[in-house]
Amino acid sequence: MKTDSDCLFCKIVAGEIPCCTILETDDALAFMDIGPIARGHVLLIPKTHAETLDALDSSAMAATARLLPSLVSAVQTATGCQGVNVLQNNGTVAGQIVPHVHFHLIPRVEGDAFTFNWPAGTYDEGEMESLAIKIRSRL
Ligand code: AMP
Ligand code: ZN
Repeated sequence: MKTDSDCLFCKIVAGEIPCCTILETDDALAFMDIGPIARGHVLLIPKTHAETLDALDSSAMAATARLLPSLVSAVQTATGCQGVNVLQNNGTVAGQIVPHVHFHLIPRVEGDAFTFNWPAGTYDEGEMESLAIKIRSRL
């Protein structure tokens, strides 16, 4: 298990900073977000330190992600929300502030204040396929 003594979420994992725990396993921790986008906003983190997803061991990811179905269900039934956004801000440019991988579980109801700007575009002829080839080659 990697840890970073300067990392806020590693300090929470170590018990040096308190959190309002929802679920804890050997590999992962879910707790209430103190700056909720909506009431019942939960964070899920791997206990091991990795700043971004690309730096996270796939087994740590699996041990974390497997908790998502029951957590989403619990948030949904406990808050009475109509849906949940599971968000992972990966990198500063993507809105990541805390440099330890985390998943946001954000309860959603019709007409709430949380909105996305989702500027869906289109590809030129062949562009999508050539990008797919490039991405596949890096797997
Ligand atoms: P992000 O912008 O994706 O890095 O999100 C970081 C999240 O961590 C924000 O939603 C904060 O409200 C939340 N957060 C920061 N400090 C704490 C803390 N001590 N306990 C719980 N949540 C926190
Ligand atoms: Zn950390």
